Amino acid sequence: MPKSPQSHLDPRQPLVVDTTKLPRQPGATRALNRVVPAPADLGLELISVPEGSDLTIDGTLTSVSEGVYVSGTVSGSLTGECGRCLNEIDKSFEVSIAELFAYEDSTTEETTDEDEVGRMSGDLLDLEPVVRDAIVLTLPTNPLCRPDCPGLCPECGVHFDELPADHSHEEVDSRWAALRNLSKNEE
Ligand SMILES: [Zn+2]
Ligand SMILES: [Zn+2]
Repeated sequence: MPKSPQSHLDPRQPLVVDTTKLPRQPGATRALNRVVPAPADLGLELISVPEGSDLTIDGTLTSVSEGVYVSGTVSGSLTGECGRCLNEIDKSFEVSIAELFAYEDSTTEETTDEDEVGRMSGDLLDLEPVVRDAIVLTLPTNPLCRPDCPGLCPECGVHFDELPADHSHEEVDSRWAALRNLSKNEE
């Protein structure tokens, strides 16, 4: 996934973090706690975080010699559609984040690829790509309303939950076949 350009970070963006108050001394820490509106298109086709819903970030910024290390959790809600029965899915999630953001012109910045290590832009860092990856990578491509969802009957499209345990179209067909055979015998 391409990272958003780091050179024009807007500190007013909800997922841009200003580290001005974090001393640039290795080991210094600062809490990072905020609730932000979820950005658009955060998820997969069948399951995603609704745009504008609350994303809670609970973490720590730690100064390291080459940059700022961000660790913590992101939690929020997911909505989607069950891949088997199409029922609505509505549940909460919590994922971990852990990412190093290298200072501008640090050795780390010069010796690593932007895909491996995040980049600071002055005192700012952008958490959006990190949050996005952490969430999208944990989402199932085929989400289910519950792990044992039996799905829909392929013949009549009714949820198996609403059908008797012995529901089967095969049986009906064989009964009809038997009746047809009977009527043939009567002829
Ligand atoms: Zn289902
Ligand atoms: Zn059926």
